[in-house]
Amino acid sequence: MAHIDVIPEVSKFIEGPPKMVIGGKPTDAASGETFEVRDPSTGKVLTEVPRGGMADIDAAVGSARVAVEDKRWSGLRPGKRTEVLFKLGELIKRNINELAQLESLDSGKPIGIAQGEMWMAGEVFRYYSGWPTKVYGETNPTAEDTFVYTLREPVGVCGGIIPWNFPLVMATWKVAPALAFGNACVLKPAEQTPLTAIRLGELALEAGVPEGVVNVVTGFGDEAGQALAQHEDVDKIAFTGSTEVGRKILHASESNLKRVTLELGGKSPNIVFPDANMKRAVKGSMFGIFLNSGQVCTAGSRILVDSSIHDEFVSALAEATQQMKLGPGLDDETGIGPVVSEEQLERVTGYIDLGRTEGAEVITGGERAVDLGDGYFVQPTIFTGVRNEMRIAQEEIFGPVAAVIEVSGVDEAIEVANNTIYGLAASVWTSDLSKAHRVAQGIRAGTVWVNGHGMVDPSVSFGGYKQSGFGRELGVHSMEAYTQVKSVWLNLK
Ligand code: NAP
Ligand code: MG
Repeated sequence: MAHIDVIPEVSKFIEGPPKMVIGGKPTDAASGETFEVRDPSTGKVLTEVPRGGMADIDAAVGSARVAVEDKRWSGLRPGKRTEVLFKLGELIKRNINELAQLESLDSGKPIGIAQGEMWMAGEVFRYYSGWPTKVYGETNPTAEDTFVYTLREPVGVCGGIIPWNFPLVMATWKVAPALAFGNACVLKPAEQTPLTAIRLGELALEAGVPEGVVNVVTGFGDEAGQALAQHEDVDKIAFTGSTEVGRKILHASESNLKRVTLELGGKSPNIVFPDANMKRAVKGSMFGIFLNSGQVCTAGSRILVDSSIHDEFVSALAEATQQMKLGPGLDDETGIGPVVSEEQLERVTGYIDLGRTEGAEVITGGERAVDLGDGYFVQPTIFTGVRNEMRIAQEEIFGPVAAVIEVSGVDEAIEVANNTIYGLAASVWTSDLSKAHRVAQGIRAGTVWVNGHGMVDPSVSFGGYKQSGFGRELGVHSMEAYTQVKSVWLNLK
């Protein structure tokens, strides 16, 4: 074990106690209530944060509304907004150690991975800092006696509701585009992982984002989350999380017909063909499912392997998986950390039991790892003999559990890959260029990776087909979500 000591900035923040950021001020819940935040590596309480509810959402939305109306942000020169957003990206990078430790303690993820994510969070702001100066309107080809042009205007007050798997990165996916396109926002982080979202609210102020433009309300989904989704003065909600809660968000948006974008679950196929580079395919498939303990919306949780290489592939995958070191996040030898909460532990081990009952075979893992104390550790687990109609192949487990399904040939691989309610992502391992393109075009999913899995970049649009949601985040397509078009007619007669 190579345990890493917590740096003083982290202890200071945790002891804070951390407060919400509303109207630019550190704020307690109106009710005065708090809730506990736990370290998944030990099960122990780390700190408490405000239990924001309806009144706090109301205050945050009110602050954001005032900021939208008086244009304290959208009215700044675009180049100035660029400067501020770039600075925020720099501040995230400058505080990478602090943020990574906070994220690791809060979510259990290995510190090295947390550091990579914090870097990416900074990159997201850097990317979006380029946008304020590039939002153009159009002129329209109308009759000669009229002149029509379009303006792209901010949507207004944008709510972001995010999950616990990539807390800060998910926060940046909501906050950075909202700001780049001139909006104000209210962010509701997941109850399991509220800490880095609060730090983001503080760093935004430090970078020069005016007060009230970024508000962070911590709390529970059915209280703060629901209040935000229902609020009549919120113009848009961007949600990432489960398909079940996505449905609730859609219902809640009915109050004022606010715009909604949803990034939901997945059961992404990872397809391995016989002509793949086996070494790369084994390693890539392993990280594709076990990265972040499988708590990734694009996790390659269904591994579709051609029957001609099935046995050879699964034994290599099992062997590589057995070498992954399970341990606490703040240990630099850890390859795979705990799952995020006791609730997830129950859920994931429940699915492992279900897989056995359904007749699939565990070839590695299959148990809670109890030798690591009270943390929520689950052994990385591989099932073989899985049929695509089994529940372990159809339902999002969101844990370190892979379902290997045997397929024969390209057509069957595409058919099985598409046979799910989800359509978030897929990966294909092959050295045949035509096959790669054929599969990429045949798959109904928002992202297809060829000879890789899980790559993201702020310039590449991301989102789901089917019940994995709608709308696209990142890249050029995010402009649609965070702006609205106004057509202006001039009568020249
Ligand atoms: P979740 O309930 O969908 O949580 C996502 C966010 O929505 C959290 O901030 C949550 O708050 C909030 N929320 C919950 N109920 C709400 C409501 N009625 N109105 C508004 N907001 C609400 O996900 P989870 O409970 O953390 O995890 C459950 C399962 O969802 C996982 O096992 C996994 O299958 C799936 N999941 C998918 C993704 C993804 O990226 N696709 C991410 C996370 C989870 P609370 O934190 O207080 O619940
Ligand atoms: Mg929940």
